[in-house]
Amino acid sequence: MIGLPTVEANWALISESGIYQSFFDHHPDAVYVLDLHGDCRDANPACIQLLGYSRQELLRTPFKRIVVPEGLDRCACDDVGQWVQAKSITFETTAFHKHGHRVEIRVTHTPIVVGGNVIGVFGIAKDVTQQKRVEQELIDTERLYKLISENSEDIISYCHPDGTFGYISPSVETLLDYKQDELIGKANTCLYHPDDIPYVAAIGERIRSGEDVPRFTCRVRRKNGSYRWYETTLKFIRDEQENLVQMVGIGRDISEQMALSISLEHAVTMAKLGHWEWDLKTGNVSYSRQSYRNLGIDNANEVFTVERFASFVHPEDLESWREEIGKAVDARRTFDHTFRISRTDGAVRFLHSCGELVYDDDGVPVRMAGIAQDITEHKLLELQLQQSEERYRTLVENSLDAIGVFEDRKCVFMNSIGLQMFGATSEEIIGSDYFDFLHPSHYEESERRLQAIMWNERLRPIEYKWVRKNGEVFHAEVLGSRFSDTAIQVCIRDITERKQAYELLLRSEKLSAVGQLAAGIAHEIRNPLTALKGFTQMLREKSRGTKRRYFDIMSGELDRIEMILNEMLVLAKPQDRNFELKHVDLILLEVITFLSPQAMMKNVTIQTDFQRDLPMLSCEEGQLKQVFVNIIKNGIEAMPSGGNMLVRLKTQGDKVVVEFVDEGVGIPEDRMPKLGEPFFTTKEKGTGLGLMISHKIISAHNGTIGVQSRLGEGTTVSLSLPVGLPNR
Ligand code: ADP
Ligand code: MG
Repeated sequence: MIGLPTVEANWALISESGIYQSFFDHHPDAVYVLDLHGDCRDANPACIQLLGYSRQELLRTPFKRIVVPEGLDRCACDDVGQWVQAKSITFETTAFHKHGHRVEIRVTHTPIVVGGNVIGVFGIAKDVTQQKRVEQELIDTERLYKLISENSEDIISYCHPDGTFGYISPSVETLLDYKQDELIGKANTCLYHPDDIPYVAAIGERIRSGEDVPRFTCRVRRKNGSYRWYETTLKFIRDEQENLVQMVGIGRDISEQMALSISLEHAVTMAKLGHWEWDLKTGNVSYSRQSYRNLGIDNANEVFTVERFASFVHPEDLESWREEIGKAVDARRTFDHTFRISRTDGAVRFLHSCGELVYDDDGVPVRMAGIAQDITEHKLLELQLQQSEERYRTLVENSLDAIGVFEDRKCVFMNSIGLQMFGATSEEIIGSDYFDFLHPSHYEESERRLQAIMWNERLRPIEYKWVRKNGEVFHAEVLGSRFSDTAIQVCIRDITERKQAYELLLRSEKLSAVGQLAAGIAHEIRNPLTALKGFTQMLREKSRGTKRRYFDIMSGELDRIEMILNEMLVLAKPQDRNFELKHVDLILLEVITFLSPQAMMKNVTIQTDFQRDLPMLSCEEGQLKQVFVNIIKNGIEAMPSGGNMLVRLKTQGDKVVVEFVDEGVGIPEDRMPKLGEPFFTTKEKGTGLGLMISHKIISAHNGTIGVQSRLGEGTTVSLSLPVGLPNR
C-alpha cells in the first residue's frame, strides 16, 4: 500500500503548474475537476455555460445535486482502487440546469494521478440533449416505418446499391406468395418480368441521373410464375457524399385497374369510339388511337389539322359537315352530325361525331372536344331495316287480300284492296270500329277471337260475312294476328269467287254424274229404239192412207226420241260438234210454230219482237232448238191459267240476246241458286234436267243464261250468245 499525500498538498502542485490552464479554459466541452469527495474544485467556462451556475456557485455546491445521483454513483470516487484500474470511464447521465431543465450529458471521468496517487478526476461533459432527441426520433420514425411497412397493402422494399433486397415487407407473402427471407439478399430483378427488366433498368438509370420519375408500371412475378401488374415508386437514398446508400421501392398491385383499362380499351376499340380535341386557335386536332383507326391510319403520330380531317370527309357530305361544324362554333352549341368518310384504304364508312365547346376563363371558346364513332354497321342495319320495311309495305299495299291494322279496335290502316273491298275511302275507314265492317251475326265469336289473338293464340282463318259501306254483304275469310300490345293486323280474303268456283265444281260433279246416268239410259233405250224404228219403217211401207200418216208421225217421233237420246249422250262425253252459221230468228220461229198448239191448249199466247238484220250465229241448230223448247215450255208451264209470253231477239254489242218473258208464277228468291241443278224441279212430272242441259249447251256456245224473276209477276230468261265463231 502506498502512502497517500494529503489532498491539499497534491492539489497545490497542480494549480501551481498552470500547464493545462489554457486547455482547460478554452475547451469547447464542459471540463471540471472533482476531488475525491466528489466536490467540484474547478469548472471551465463551457461547463459554467452548460449548467447555468457561476463558477463560485459550482465550487460551493455538492456536485451530486447538479448531476443525477445514479450517474454520479459511477464516479465511485471513494473507491480509489477502481479509479486506478478503470483509468477512465465514460457514461451518460442527466444534469440539471440552474433553471431546472434537464441536460443530457455524456461524461468521461479521468483520474488525476500525482506521484502515483489518484487525487481526483477530470470530468469532460458533452451536451448530448440534441443528439439524444434525434436518436429518439430516429427510433420513433423507424418504429413507424416498420409499422407502416409491416402492415402495408403495398410491397415496401429497401435495396442495396447492388440491387439486392435488404428488406421487403411481409405483404409480399400474401401478395406474391414469397417468404420474406426468400427474397432478402436476392437481386430485385428476380421479381420482374424478363421483358420488363430493360425498361425498369432504364427507369433506374433515369432516377440515378437525377430525374424525378414519379412512378412506373411493370409486371411482377408471383411465386407460382403468374404475373401481376405493379405500379412502383422508386426513391434513391444517398449519403452526404452523394453516394447511393439505398433504394426504397413501394409497389402496388394494379392488375384489376389494368384489366379494367384494358377492357375499356377493348370496348373503345370494339365500339370504334374515338376521342378528338380540336384547338380552335391553331386548328390542330389531337386524336385518340381509335380516332386514327377510324380513318384507317395506323401511324397514330401524324399531326392532324381540321383541314386534314376534312380531306377524309366524303365529297358529297363535305358541305353539310362544314356547315354543321361552323354552326356549332358560331352559335356555341353542341356539334352532332353523321357523315361519310373515305378511309385511307378507300372504304366508305359512316361516322357519327359529337363535340362540345370548351371555354377559357373569359368565356371565349378555345377548344372543341368530342367523340366520333364508326356506325357503318349500325347504318347498314338501319338501311336494311328500312328496305325490309319498304318491302313489307309494298307487300301489304300490293297484297290481293285486304290488310288492315286495328288499334283498340279502331282502324288505323287499311290497304287499297281493303278500301275497294269495303267500298270506302281511306278517310271513311280510318277510325271506324272493327265491328262496323262485320256482320252482326259474328260479333260474339269475333269478340272471343280478338281476345285469343291478343293472347297470342294461333288461329285458323275463319269465314265471316262482311258489310260494305253500301250495306252489301259479302263472304270473306279473315285471319288476325297480334301487331303490337294494343293492335291487331287482320287479313281479309274475298272468297266470293272461290265460293262460286266451288259451287260450279259441285254442279259439274253432279252434271257428270247425270251424264253417266244419261249415257247408261241412252244406250239401254237405243237398242229397243232401233228395233222400234225398223219395224215402224217396215209397217209404214206396207200401209196406206190414214194408217200410213200414223206411221209417219210415229217414225217422226221416234226420230226425235233418238235425237234426244243423242243429246243425252252429249252430256256423257264431249262429241265433235257441228257448228254452222245459222239465222237464229229462223230457228226460233220454227220452235215457236212447233210449240204453238201446246201453248194454245194452255191459253198462252206467244208473241215475238225480233230486231231486223240480225247477224248469223255460229251454232248447232238442233241443240239451240232444244234450249228454246225447254225455256218456252217452262214459261208455258209457269202460266197454268194462261197468259202472254214474249220472245225478244236483239243484238247487244257483239252478242245476240234472246229474252223469254212470261207472266207466270215466278221463282222464289231462295230457289234461284238451285236453277240449273240437275233434278231440281217443282213439277209433278218434271225431270229437272231441262235447264241443266240448256246451261251446258249455251256454255258450249260460249254464251250465258240469266234468270230474273218476281214471285207472282213473271220470269225473264235471257240468253246471250256471241256473234263470232265460238271457241271449242
Ligand atoms: P222441269 O221443267 O222438268 O221442272 P227444268 O230444269 O226445266 O225442269 O226447270 C226446273 C225448275 O225451274 C222448274 O221445276 C221450275 O220450278 C223452275 N222454272 C224454270 N223456268 C221457270 C219459269 N219460266 N217460271 C217459273 N219457274 C220456272
Ligand atoms: Mg222444263
